[in-house]
Amino acid sequence: MSNNLQIVAYIIASALFILSLGGLSNQETARKGNLYGMAGMLIALTATLLGQGVSHYSLLVGVLLPGGMIGAIVASRVVMTAMPQLVAILHSFVGVAAVLVGIANYLQPNSTLVGAEATIHQLEIFIGSFIGAVTFTGSVVAFAKLQELIGSRPLLLPARHWLNLALLGITVGLGVQFMTTPLIAGLTPLLIMIAIACLLGAHLVLAIGGADMPVVISMLNSYSGWAAAAAGFMLSNDLLIITGALVGSSGAILSYIMCKAMNRSFLSVILGGFGSNSNQSLPGVDQPQGRVTATTIEDTVKLMQTAGRIIIVPGYGMAVAQAQHALAALTKLLRDRGIQVRYGIHPVAGRLPGHMNVLLAEANVPYDIVLEMDEINSDFPQTDLVLVIGANDTVNPSAIEDPNSPIAGMPVLEVWQAKTIVVLKRSLASGYAGVENPLFTKDNTRMLFGDAKSNVELILTQLNPHPVAVLT
Ligand code: NDP
Repeated sequence: MSNNLQIVAYIIASALFILSLGGLSNQETARKGNLYGMAGMLIALTATLLGQGVSHYSLLVGVLLPGGMIGAIVASRVVMTAMPQLVAILHSFVGVAAVLVGIANYLQPNSTLVGAEATIHQLEIFIGSFIGAVTFTGSVVAFAKLQELIGSRPLLLPARHWLNLALLGITVGLGVQFMTTPLIAGLTPLLIMIAIACLLGAHLVLAIGGADMPVVISMLNSYSGWAAAAAGFMLSNDLLIITGALVGSSGAILSYIMCKAMNRSFLSVILGGFGSNSNQSLPGVDQPQGRVTATTIEDTVKLMQTAGRIIIVPGYGMAVAQAQHALAALTKLLRDRGIQVRYGIHPVAGRLPGHMNVLLAEANVPYDIVLEMDEINSDFPQTDLVLVIGANDTVNPSAIEDPNSPIAGMPVLEVWQAKTIVVLKRSLASGYAGVENPLFTKDNTRMLFGDAKSNVELILTQLNPHPVAVLT
């Protein structure tokens, strides 16, 4: 393929990636957005493989085939609840790729570059490898936290900010050494810097508590984009630079939106909790203090039959139970009986941005009754019944009532303002942030213990003498 044709293909692919991002910003156009992205990636990959600089096709096939097969198998098997871990580990691959490209570029320099161009290239290698290494270990730690291989409690080492600063200082020193060392001797400072960046990435993410993990994930998404862009600079590949910049900047915007939604400082989170309130108690208390009122399917059905306005608040437990289809059927039944039913979605409910929206859209819950937290929070006082389906941290009043809570300041869905709340979950266990939830002991709260899907199906059976099949 000629260079010109490759440039045209790259421009088309870039345009498709931009259309893809535009499509993904809205539930109704998200499928189309995904298709644009897939088409763009196919064009990009084909144009790169057929490009003039590419040889050794047998080696490429030997790498692409098993890689593609492993990717297809993993993606087809992953359950929706494990998606965040998959995304985190995929970010780590981008990071490690940028590091390897950096080392390979350094070992086999482009001999046509001289003077300022060669210096800039050296800088690209150093910075690209740094971002890649931070992304790599940060994402591996995020994966381990989401997979619950390690706890969600923040690791708060004494003088941890000074430690980060010292690691950064050493990195700058190594950078100076790397830039001024002739020929291959710069490999040693490069490798030491990569080891330090790995340590920094792991430490930054370990210091973040469970409730702030959504920001970390979108931030690592952004880092992986910048790592890809850095690899693009090292390889002089314009498409990689554009794609990386798109991912990097959209991830940064998402992180900012998440921070605003959670009332967190963006800088504080990216600096491993810098400036956060160290008086806050650490999470870990599992059981709420006070009297818990358990309820039954029969009583919940009675509450529904007398309610005029119902709000359903789903959380991670809905995803675990896969209760969305049963909920969609329940919603239809109640609406057919003239009851107002709406959904309240917290921006960080579940384990991925938009997690609840995706599940509800999959179950064909009408978009116009699925409202964001800001749109619905003031309606709880006029609501007869709130059904909390596997949500916990996102409906925890201590975020507002207890300034020493680890989630203090995070806006939550104020479900306790409604007349009655029925919480569907299996036990009194805490949510991802590991924080006790006083909602469970409020006078107007009833706990309906058990798996959310089974219980919603039982409610459906009692409500509807002539059941329709629930599609799962
Ligand atoms: P939580 O993680 O706070 O709580 C989920 C609850 O679901 C648990 O308390 C659990 O209780 C219950 N549950 C689990 N399985 C079932 C089941 N089969 N049936 C019924 N209930 C079940 O969920 P939220 O959505 O309220 O909050 C999300 C949390 O995750 C926040 O802390 C957020 O910061 C964090 N997070 C969010 C990310 C995002 O991007 N959205 C990414 C990373 C973290 P029990 O065991 O008793 O059933």
